[in-house]
Amino acid sequence: MKTDVENRLIWLDGKIVNIKDATVNVLAPTAQFGLNVFEGIRCYWNEEKEQLFAFRLDDHHKRLQRSIKLLQLDSPYSLSDLKNAFIDVVKANDYREDIAVRQTVFADGFGSWGSEGPVNMFVSPIPKAKSSAEYNKKSLRCCISSWRRISDSVLSPRIKCGANYINSRMAQREALRNGYDTTIFLNDAGKVAEGPGSCLFIVKNGILITPLLTDSVLESITRDTIIRIARDMGIETLERSIDRTELYTADEAFLCGSAMEITPVCSVDKYEITGGNRITNWIHNKYLNIVTGNDRMYLEWLTMISN
Ligand code: PMP
Repeated sequence: MKTDVENRLIWLDGKIVNIKDATVNVLAPTAQFGLNVFEGIRCYWNEEKEQLFAFRLDDHHKRLQRSIKLLQLDSPYSLSDLKNAFIDVVKANDYREDIAVRQTVFADGFGSWGSEGPVNMFVSPIPKAKSSAEYNKKSLRCCISSWRRISDSVLSPRIKCGANYINSRMAQREALRNGYDTTIFLNDAGKVAEGPGSCLFIVKNGILITPLLTDSVLESITRDTIIRIARDMGIETLERSIDRTELYTADEAFLCGSAMEITPVCSVDKYEITGGNRITNWIHNKYLNIVTGNDRMYLEWLTMISN
């Protein structure tokens, strides 16, 4: 049975409440200045095992703690508090389908953008199907954004905070206005960075290549997953800066992230990418096998959410 989305349960301030009662003060710094940090975490339902698995939960929570530290939020939450809140609310909703969970730690109260606290949290799950249903139909027509990716010296892309997505919004709206599906940012140095909500890989001559973590990208968990599984399978994988023109001549390219999983790119600035997606398809299938608990080699990445 599908969950009743309108009445789903949210964790807010230590309580599990109906979404209609999960409200935030309009004057809180999170509402006024986007002063919040968050994670987008996926759980996948395995029908055969009748089991819901959260993917790389501890790694998401560690990244959330790094974002909290960098923004100097006076957070009362330990790693186990973050995990317990997550598990409690997912269990409370009794899901038997794939879901996406937003876990946000935010500046509450009546302070300003300089306030350290008070700090609050919500955890909000929602059903979300895998991208695989759409995978064969969906290949993205991308442009290079005229907006540069935020940089570590201005607004670090390493911090997963709400305000960073204004840069993403500007670029995505420009792409849609101009008839593309989405966009790819260059960084301050003119090298390829990432998508507005995803990381990027290209394939050239059978080698998988992705920008460095110091090229203005989020420390993506999907990026890390792909590097690990590709290397385990003996696919040569490089982390290095990528030039814009390398995108135009790539054999394959794809965007990746917890939300979009692995989604192929079919063109960049109307230069077509026609190499056949052999490696992209392999990574996509492998990824879905892992996250659903069907690959025994990577079970350490999964947290069982049992009711
Ligand atoms: N870059 C940006 C800007 C993102 O918003 C995301 C999605 N969180 C990613 C990359 C991918 O990160 P992850 O694989 O951890 O979901």
